[in-house]
Amino acid sequence: MASLRPYIVELIRHTSSGLPEDVLDALAEARDNEPEGSRAWSTFELMISNVEAARQASAPICQDTGTLIFYVDHGPDHSPHALERDIVAAVREATRRAYLRPNAVDPITGVNSGDNVGRGSPYIHFTARKEKGVRVRLMMKGGGCENVGTQYSLPDESIGAGRDLDGIRRCIIDAVQKAQGFGCAPGTVGVGVGGDRVTSYIESKEQLFRPLRDVNPDPVLADLEEELLGSLQGLNIGPMGFGGETTVLGVKIGARHRVPASFFVSISYMCWAYRKGELTVKGRKAALDGHPLGLPVPVARKAASRTAAKAVVAKKTGAKKAGAKKAGAKKADAKKTGAKKAGAKNAGAKKTVAKKAASKKAVAKKAASKKAVAKKAVAKKSVAKKSVAKNAASKTTSPRKPAGPAVQVASRRARPKKLPVL
Ligand code: SF4
Repeated sequence: MASLRPYIVELIRHTSSGLPEDVLDALAEARDNEPEGSRAWSTFELMISNVEAARQASAPICQDTGTLIFYVDHGPDHSPHALERDIVAAVREATRRAYLRPNAVDPITGVNSGDNVGRGSPYIHFTARKEKGVRVRLMMKGGGCENVGTQYSLPDESIGAGRDLDGIRRCIIDAVQKAQGFGCAPGTVGVGVGGDRVTSYIESKEQLFRPLRDVNPDPVLADLEEELLGSLQGLNIGPMGFGGETTVLGVKIGARHRVPASFFVSISYMCWAYRKGELTVKGRKAALDGHPLGLPVPVARKAASRTAAKAVVAKKTGAKKAGAKKAGAKKADAKKTGAKKAGAKNAGAKKTVAKKAASKKAVAKKAASKKAVAKKAVAKKSVAKKSVAKNAASKTTSPRKPAGPAVQVASRRARPKKLPVL
């Protein structure tokens, strides 16, 4: 994606040197509600002409260019890191071009950073979304009106506020009364009900991004907003505290779930210099407050981005291949190890089988030897018998021949040698 820096510089210039159409319309309406030539009428008239002059000169409409609050909603085609880099660079450039006053000072030493960049400055709030493209909203919140922002923890006995709608109403009226003479009226009141101390304030600021003439989607809060818009005008604080029909331009209330133990009502008061702007970028189209910018998003960086994307894909593919190779090598190793193990197992098994076979052989040998001995004994017996028979026959035929030696032989054969023990 191309750098959005020039578009954000333009967003800052546009926001700093003018007011949104709905705010300008509300100021003109407030002026028209006052008698022509009255202090209130003249003040509104000066405000409007001041904005016209600032717009022509691309100069800030107020010397206090405020705290820079960016809300960024980005799709998957935009990296928050790149967006942050572009926003910070744009803030520096806008300060150099005097669209912004150097407004960021060190909280401890008080030393001005000179370029509106410092710890937590500018404030950037990111929200990821599924749709492609990016929306950058900018609010420039002046110090005078920020100082009168306040938070109530209900119940609050000092203003008789309980934990109900009437309690919320009392908080808002009290805050606007106390802002008199500090935040430059007429103001717009952003209210956060519920949440914790931090998110309640965040809600109150986010409410200030709403268009002045919208209707709250929550019917209860919508009624409360309408009622308060009417009743707050009755304070007659008027523009810059000069008295008049218009004390506030709008009341915007948001709510967040809270823990049962807490009930916060946070008020963010925005002065008449209600500076907010919106940049949207989709593909090559960019728009500022809904008006197309004659500054198409360049493609050169896009191509570079594509190349980078390709490189990333190639890297990933390479990594995958390497991973596959590694996995293959591991498999092969495992196979080898398995094979070795199997071999060893086989060898072991073979050894056992061989041992068994040898043992069987030995047993068979023993048996064969026994058989042979038995056979020999039988043969000996038969020889002895034959010899006895022969002797008897010889005795019958020739009584002078002795019969001893045949029996002796037979006797020797009948006593075989002892077999070795296996
Ligand atoms: S409160 Fe608003 S108008 Fe007043 S000085 Fe501050 S930024 Fe300017």
